[in-house]
Amino acid sequence: MHCPFCSANDTKVIDSRLVADGHQVRRRRSCNVCSERFTTFETAELVMPRIIKHDGTRQPFDEDKLRNGIQRAVEKRPVSTEQIENSVSKIKSSLRATGEREVDSSMVGNLVMDQLKELDKVAYIRFASVYRAFEDVSQFGEAIASLEKM
Ligand SMILES: [Zn+2]
Repeated sequence: MHCPFCSANDTKVIDSRLVADGHQVRRRRSCNVCSERFTTFETAELVMPRIIKHDGTRQPFDEDKLRNGIQRAVEKRPVSTEQIENSVSKIKSSLRATGEREVDSSMVGNLVMDQLKELDKVAYIRFASVYRAFEDVSQFGEAIASLEKM
């Protein structure tokens, strides 16, 4: 792997440990040319099921979207980045464990709520209210959109 500071090819691993419940390897690397240090994370790339939305359309699973949702829910709460990563890993494992090629978006929502319930009660309530309100808002949004077309 190239050094992100000087682009040298010659870097070495100085520390390696499992994080996110063993779903990730964190490596500290050092550049042999400029001596800068940086960190890489390694995860297995596995096929995730696609997500079936309420309107029946399918979307590829979006890990960033999932992480952003959890981060928003735990904003200003005593929840560490590592705890968030753990939750993301657990949700992904649960989705893969279904063995399905497609799963309902509500299943993802429920998995997020299960994780937040363990992480932080306030974040859980925050997400649950937004999540439920969002379902309604999208329905209202569709109704308004259809009115505007008339
Ligand atoms: Zn370098």
